[in-house]
Order: sequence, then C-alpha cells, then structure tokens
Amino acid sequence: MPDALSYTAPEAKVIRGAVSDWELVIGLEVHAQVSSQAKLFSGASTRFGAEPNANVSFVDCAMPGMLPVLNEYCVEQAVRTGLGLKAQINLVSAFDRKNYFYPDLPQGYQISQLYHPIVGEGEVIVDMAPGIARRVRIERIHMEQDAGKSIHDMDPRLSFVDLNRTGVCLMEIVSRPDIRGPEEAAAYVGKLRRIMRYLGTCDGNMQNGSLRADVNVSVCRPGAYERYRETGDASALGTRCEIKNMNSMRFIQQAIEHEARRQIAILEDGGAVDQETRLYDPDKGETRPMRSKEEAHDYRYFPDPDLLPLEIEQGWVDDIRAGLPELPDAKKARFVTEIGLSEYDAGVLTAEVEAADYFEQAARGRDGKQVANWVINDLFGRLAKDGLEITASPVSPAQLGGIIDLIAGGEISGKIAKALFEIVYTEGGDPAEIVAARNMRQVTDTGAIAAAVEQVIAENPAQAEKARQNPKLAGWFVGQVMKATGGKANPKAVNELVRGKLGL
Ligand code: ADP
Ligand code: MG
Repeated sequence: MPDALSYTAPEAKVIRGAVSDWELVIGLEVHAQVSSQAKLFSGASTRFGAEPNANVSFVDCAMPGMLPVLNEYCVEQAVRTGLGLKAQINLVSAFDRKNYFYPDLPQGYQISQLYHPIVGEGEVIVDMAPGIARRVRIERIHMEQDAGKSIHDMDPRLSFVDLNRTGVCLMEIVSRPDIRGPEEAAAYVGKLRRIMRYLGTCDGNMQNGSLRADVNVSVCRPGAYERYRETGDASALGTRCEIKNMNSMRFIQQAIEHEARRQIAILEDGGAVDQETRLYDPDKGETRPMRSKEEAHDYRYFPDPDLLPLEIEQGWVDDIRAGLPELPDAKKARFVTEIGLSEYDAGVLTAEVEAADYFEQAARGRDGKQVANWVINDLFGRLAKDGLEITASPVSPAQLGGIIDLIAGGEISGKIAKALFEIVYTEGGDPAEIVAARNMRQVTDTGAIAAAVEQVIAENPAQAEKARQNPKLAGWFVGQVMKATGGKANPKAVNELVRGKLGL
C-alpha cells in the first residue's frame, strides 16, 4: 500500500510589494502537550481545569533536594510521534538545563533537550487540495517541561501564578523552513494535529493550549528558496522573525500575512529586518516586538546533572512501531485505491479518526461511495446543525447501513430515505422496522402508479396539452405524481408512465 498518493507541490505564495514580488518562507516550532496523566518528571496530575496550584508536587515547585524522575509514558509518546512522522529515533538522548528567570518557572531553568533530542529528521505531507501537497521536513522533536502561568489581569496591583502546567511534558516539533504560505502553515499544524490525534499522543486542543506554535517568517525574492534547497545554505533566505505562542489557525495565518508585509515594507524602503521575537495582536492586526533574538548560549545550556542520558532499546522502539495505528495518509490512500473514493472524500473522511472508523463500519459489505455520500452530506450536515461530534451521532453506523440497504434493495426511494434518516436521527429505531410500520415502502406496482398518473393528467388538461407541445414540461407531472404518492413511487417508473400516457 502506498502511504501517500502522488501529488505535486503547491505554488509558493507571492506578495506583490510596491517595488517587486516577494515569496514567503516559514518554519514552525510546534509545542504539543503529551497526553499523559502525570508530568514529565513528577507524579503530579496534568488535568486541565483543576483549581489553580492543585496539580503541583514538590518537584514542580522546585523544593530543595527534590529530584526529577523521568516519566516513561511520556518518552513512549515522543517515540510514537517520531515514528508517526517517519522520523529517526535516537536511542541515546539527553536532557539539558535552559536557564532563565520566569516567575512561573520555579526551578529557574527549563529541562529540555538541546544537543541530543530523542527524535531526529522526519517529514509531514501537508495536503492542500486533491493531488496538491507539500512535503515539509521535520528537523527534530525534543521533550521539554512546560512553564506555569502568570496571571496579570485579575487584580490591578497583584499578579498571580498558577503552577498546574509547570513540568507538564511538551514535545517541541521543529520543522525546516519549508512552508511557503499562510494557508500551508495552518494546514501543516492541522496535519500534525491529525497525526498526533490518530496516535493518541496529543489531544490537539488548541483552545486549552495543548497545541501552540511559534511561527518563523521571512521573505525573499523569487528563486532564493530554490537556491537554498539546492545548496542547503540558509543564508540564501531572508532574515526571519519569530512570532510566539500562536494557538489559533486563523491567527497563525493572519500573523504571517501581517509579518510578511511588514518585512517587505522595511526591505523595499532600503532597511534590514532585525531577527527578533514578536507577538501578534489580533485586535490591532499587527505583530510587535517582544525581545531581540536570543541565542542558545544566552541560556547557558548545560547537561542536567540530575538526569542520566536517556538510553532506549531498539527492541522497544520496534514494539512501539508494530503497535502504531494506520495513519491518515495511509488510510486516505486506502480509501481511494481500495474503496474507490475520490481523494477529496477520502480526505474529509480521514480528517478525524472517529469519522474514518464510523465510515468503515457503515461501509463494510456495502457500496463505499454511496456510504461516503451519506456520511459526508447527510450525517455530517445533520450533526453540524446540532453542533455534535461524530462520536455523539444519534445514528449508528449499523443504522445508517440499514437505511442504505433499504435503498439498495429497492424498498425505498432516495427521497424517502432522507425522511427515514431524519426519523432514525430524532427517534432512533431499526430502519427496516420503521419502513414497515409506517408504510414507507416504495410503490413499484405499476398498476398503482399508473392510476395516479392518469388521475393527475385528467385533473390538469391544460398542463397536459402544453406538455405534449413541449416534452420538457413532463417533469411537472412526475413531481405531481410523486407528491400524490407521498414520495413512495419509484421515480423511474413514474417518469416512464407519464411519458407514455402523454404520448411523448
Ligand atoms: P535557531 O537555531 O536560532 O533556533 P533554527 O535554525 O533551529 O534556529 O530554526 C528555528 C526555526 O526557524 C525552525 O523552525 C526553522 O525552520 C525556522 N527558520 C530558520 N530559518 C528561517 C528563515 N530564513 N525563514 C523562516 N523560518 C526559518
Ligand atoms: Mg533551533
């Protein structure tokens, strides 16, 4: 099974400046919170929404003499994520202290992995449209501790600190600067999120801060990026700015667009872009400086003496690999090649693993394309109306399959099926029993249909005369007969009989 369909790369986004054309170059550092019940180096809970400072152990608040103990589950999730991104897993990695003062970081340093990350180079296929996707290279994934939260807006004079998040395990997923536009950046984050949700390694909840991105943006003249790819020399690219801590797809796109235009204005004015860290203000629609870019040596990184190098065994990695679920690209390719879905439909159905599972259950032993239409158009549409997730669908895969079987067996028309779907959705029940109990079976008995056709023609002589002059008007009679039979007549039979009786 090919794990990706063939595709061509999308065009880079071009922004027309006052003087010339510019292209965007973007690299992302995504912070994904590991779905673990305990923190990276302590047994404290990670539950979101707990009372402030309820999830804090002595390790998290850096009491003297407390030592970190590595959480194996978190390591496993980082390895799983690395394998899901087809990345190299480093059997030896190590933890370093990144020293800086922050009120919500009691240790005075963050434990991270600068020199020897657990995961090396990998890749993500970012789908933009059927047949159009970009391969974005992953540079590394390392594990690190999250900081707590300082709260400045609760009191005019006081600031508060909540250490619940302090020490929670993050995976920092660093891309190469391979992303070429705002939509692509959002799609990249979306694809990472999808893969991690399939893997179960991060819940991807951006609102709760489980997934945040630092977005690096630079601009260059057309051709410069291609030179960088040929030579590997990043000096062909423009100077970048980093926009910190974005937790919304919409804001990521807006911030990139604003930042690129800001840089273009500076460059076209003969100036130079300063490499710095900026913040995006969605209200003002602008980025503004937060601090000038600091270098690794500013943080006085050094190996954490409290933690031994992390050594894992190839056998353990192989076991984790063997236990990986089918991932979105492979599932999508299988839906296209085995079931015959369009790439678009396969993409929609594999966006969430729960939707893909639902579809596969409903499609087992049935016409996959027909089931896909029902799931995408009818079920998703109806669920969206009620703001429900697929996991809360009132119609089970078996029930939807039952409705589709009734259509396939010629027992109900497509139109009746829609009404039946609504009944099953709101009232529940077995579709076949509902059809029998409510007399919804399709009328295929031509005698009964013929009688209805004759009656409608007899009642509308003028309309019948017009239809004889202009056969296109026969459709009106088909509609009337369908109405008269409560939608239960077989539309094909009605059409034939109407034409016959009108002498067309
Ligand atoms: P540093 O070592 O200063 O942290 P890296 O080379 O590790 O910088 O890059 C950090 C992030 O910035 C990566 O996601 C990378 O893709 C991105 N990046 C690097 N150069 C550029 C550039 N010229 N334009 C946009 N993003 C870039
Ligand atoms: Mg770096």
